[in-house]
Amino acid sequence: MTFFYSVYSNFIRIYQNNTMKLTGDIQVYDRLLPSYNIPNKRSEWSHLSIGFYGERDKIYLLHQTQRNSVGVKYEIEKLIAVFTKYISQGKMTLRFNTPSHDLIIHSNEDHLRNFIKFLQKVMKVKGTNEIKTLKLLDLSKAPSKVGPKPKTKLLIKCKKDLQAADSFPRTLEVLQMNNTGLTRLDGKIFRLQKLKVLNLENNCLETIPDQISLLPCLRELHLAGNFFGRSSLKFWLFVDNLQAELVYLDLSRNEKLKYLYLDDNFLQRLPSSFGRLPALKELKLCNNSLTALPASFRFLFLDILDVSRNPVGLKDPCRSINLIGEAVDRCHSVKNETEASSFCLLDLSAKEVLKNRLNYDRRSLPLELITYLDSACYCVCGNATFPSNPEEVIKFNFKRNCIQITYGFDENSLPIEVRFCSTGCRSNYYKRNI
Ligand SMILES: [Zn+2]
Repeated sequence: MTFFYSVYSNFIRIYQNNTMKLTGDIQVYDRLLPSYNIPNKRSEWSHLSIGFYGERDKIYLLHQTQRNSVGVKYEIEKLIAVFTKYISQGKMTLRFNTPSHDLIIHSNEDHLRNFIKFLQKVMKVKGTNEIKTLKLLDLSKAPSKVGPKPKTKLLIKCKKDLQAADSFPRTLEVLQMNNTGLTRLDGKIFRLQKLKVLNLENNCLETIPDQISLLPCLRELHLAGNFFGRSSLKFWLFVDNLQAELVYLDLSRNEKLKYLYLDDNFLQRLPSSFGRLPALKELKLCNNSLTALPASFRFLFLDILDVSRNPVGLKDPCRSINLIGEAVDRCHSVKNETEASSFCLLDLSAKEVLKNRLNYDRRSLPLELITYLDSACYCVCGNATFPSNPEEVIKFNFKRNCIQITYGFDENSLPIEVRFCSTGCRSNYYKRNI
């Protein structure tokens, strides 16, 4: 299976190296129009090809769109500038002398680079004889139809949408399937070689097959609000098979999750709401890039925790010695901050929801509010705090929360990221811990 996919992706790469052609969104910007106060047209899905017509005495660039499939031809000789400053963002501009057009191109970065390489080669060519030695497209035979823009995003928000979607186009980069009652994943998903974001929040999944590792570009995996760990199946997800590309993994609100192994994943941070996994018993985070853990970790009661081979604890977590003094100094500013934030109704209500442990899910709240609640940071006293960005890193003795801890470094406490809810909490904490 893996062999098949590597052959398949090589095939894709060779196919795309066909550098005489480029597809992308192109805006034709006529530099004269603004002086006549006429707006330029918007960008359109386009084909751009390099080639010749009949006599082979000149090289042309043919720009075709769905509306104008015959296309507009530009002489390569009239190309006066190529702007590639933003090529890493998938953007480049070709400037022609006559007509006074700029072609502003948005496409895949690799495809742009390949196209530019070929264009540079072609621009150096002089005279009919040299042109004849080049392998070029015969533009008079260019396909006369420009197909629709390939789909890169598919959003399925309910069961009805799922029934209506008959296939997953291979070009998909974002696939979102929520509230569909999904209990297993369709094997077709694992053939999406360009998929970057897979959002499966709020379904009924109990396990993710290890074919997930066949997705070479996967960067975000959203799995919140499922039933992972509900069955007795211990290994519900082989996360250590995931590609190094993965930078985002959300597993919040999976209330029955018991065993979570996230070893060898280059993880730099865990979501703030990580502690909201009340059934979690074993957590392995070995060999990642974690420097601190979210404060919600305090709510976990584990049998086994492994944080070895992480830079956790390498940085000195506590702010140095004048902490109490500093706390007193900051007293006023914190007080003002608290007063200022008390005007924010959203923060106040979010705090109450978390304080009273009110249940929330997609049926009761919009997704934005759920995300907001899940982003809460916590104080040492257990209160949820907003704004949700952590303010400082403190040491927390995890022994009361866990039976067996593998630190991998000489410590008996772990650095956690907190945001104190009040000046009182802050100074109490530092009085107790100095
Ligand atoms: Zn507090």
